[in-house]
Amino acid sequence: MSKPKVAFFDFASCEGCQLCVLDLHPEQLLDLLNVIDIVEFREAISEKADTFDIAIIEGSITRESDIPRLQKIRDKAKILIALGACAHIGGINALKNFQTKDEYQEAVYPTAPQKYETSHARAISEVVQVDAFIPGCPIDTNEFIKVVKNLVLGKKPGLPDYPVCMECKKNENVCVYELGMQCLGPVIRAGCDARCPSNGGYCFGCRGLITEPNLHSQKDIIQKYNLTYEKMMDKFKLFLERNKEVFPK
Ligand code: SF4
Ligand code: SF4
Ligand code: SF4
Repeated sequence: MSKPKVAFFDFASCEGCQLCVLDLHPEQLLDLLNVIDIVEFREAISEKADTFDIAIIEGSITRESDIPRLQKIRDKAKILIALGACAHIGGINALKNFQTKDEYQEAVYPTAPQKYETSHARAISEVVQVDAFIPGCPIDTNEFIKVVKNLVLGKKPGLPDYPVCMECKKNENVCVYELGMQCLGPVIRAGCDARCPSNGGYCFGCRGLITEPNLHSQKDIIQKYNLTYEKMMDKFKLFLERNKEVFPK
């Protein structure tokens, strides 16, 4: 049986998630190439493909002229996967959405603000239908392989849909709220093994919200630790522009 053809594409991004794929351990790469054929991947090969079964898209949509290109990819792909936080939730690019277009054009191109095309940042799913996503900034390579293999086999992606706090508790960390810090672990999708709170940091939400975030518990936390909507948004706007409602005003 022939293997599904996979093509990688990128929009506005740092290309770090594609680099993660390029940097797969040889054993991981063999594992992946057992189930797919990569037919287009600008960072790795010069070939282009007119047809493919699976499109893996990195980056967010930040120009109107991106849309026809994205739609063309969508039309060709049987399965479309959003790769990394930029594609999945708008990522760091969505920070610009806190400003008006005039403001961010002026800030980036002060001498010729109208000369360069730009618009607010959108996740891929805000423009076309997305069949699956691989969260994180950057992605986790084991999770990448797991999701791709599951989809090739006709299964669900297999992402966890419970909060980072569960992995954090399993790792026996002291909760950073007890140390005077703030953390998004209660509402963010696990799967990173609570990487940040387990290494002296806090979760800032790069994997996006779980399907049904517990907004009551988030409210209780905000009250218990004398926080405010403004304080939480100020700290967490990096990945939460689209999900402001998790912090009750
Ligand atoms: S999700 Fe992060 S690592 Fe991946 S492309 Fe976007 S900014 Fe880069
Ligand atoms: S540190 Fe963050 S992830 Fe860990 S238990 Fe506390 S809120 Fe949850
Ligand atoms: S702990 Fe939070 S910010 Fe850190 S990798 Fe996991 S989801 Fe991303």
